[in-house]
Amino acid sequence: MSDAFAGQVAVVTGASRGIGREIARALGQEGVRIVVNYAHQQAAAEAVVAQLQEAGTEAMAIRADVSQPGEASALIHAATERFGRLDILVNNAGITRDGLLLRMKDEDWYDVLHTDLSSAFFCLRAAARPMIRQRYGRVINVASVAGVMGNAGQTNYAAAKAGMIGLTKAAARELADRGITVNAVAPGFIETEMTEELTPEQRERAASQIPVRALGKVSDVARAVVFLADPQQAYVTGQVLHVDGGLAM
Ligand code: NAP
Repeated sequence: MSDAFAGQVAVVTGASRGIGREIARALGQEGVRIVVNYAHQQAAAEAVVAQLQEAGTEAMAIRADVSQPGEASALIHAATERFGRLDILVNNAGITRDGLLLRMKDEDWYDVLHTDLSSAFFCLRAAARPMIRQRYGRVINVASVAGVMGNAGQTNYAAAKAGMIGLTKAAARELADRGITVNAVAPGFIETEMTEELTPEQRERAASQIPVRALGKVSDVARAVVFLADPQQAYVTGQVLHVDGGLAM
């Protein structure tokens, strides 16, 4: 650990498990104080906070359904109230509600669009104010290879993640001269609870399409986020960093 991140504060949405939990851990290891956001799993979020605190990281859990504008802005407000600043926002919270286009229910479309895309807009809009005041910020949006390549059965999810990439680029242009970078990571198939639903055949088929012939680890995504959050990395903005074993190239 260098002291590049000393004194910094991060909000990681959807950090109670999976990729978000690992991002929280990786940023914590760099000395960043962490707000662990969750929507439903309080015990899991509190366990992440306890692990971070055991490792010497200052951390707190805040419940907020970030698909709701009021809750998203309350999350950012509570984080800045508690720690007095906000340096890093990681928009990671996400869900899937897969289904073929012809059978997709309106609610599955809206739930995924709101949770995976609108949430990033709501959190960024709230976080931009303190970051502009500080003239410093690092925003990392967790998109997906599905938003780049598309995926049958995921019109809602692919649209949300592609939208997140557009949001990233537009916001990066707006905020570039305020010392704020906005980037996305686009994970491919990563081993988490989300991919636990895959059958062994689906898993094998997925791996066979990936140039490195393996699913990724949550730590692969977390290291990419730490790179984009690095205060010494001020000249990379509006980019999509693919963490997918070469899948989308
Ligand atoms: P996961 O294990 O299902 O965890 C999702 C997290 O999001 C949980 O902490 C959950 O908290 C939180 N969450 C869900 N809805 C929320 C809401 N409305 N407000 C606040 N938090 C909410 O997912 P994951 O696999 O780690 O995925 C994390 C991100 O990476 C997602 O954006 C996903 O699309 C993206 N991604 C994943 C993969 C992959 O292979 N796993 C690939 C590409 C992209 P609660 O349980 O407390 O609600």
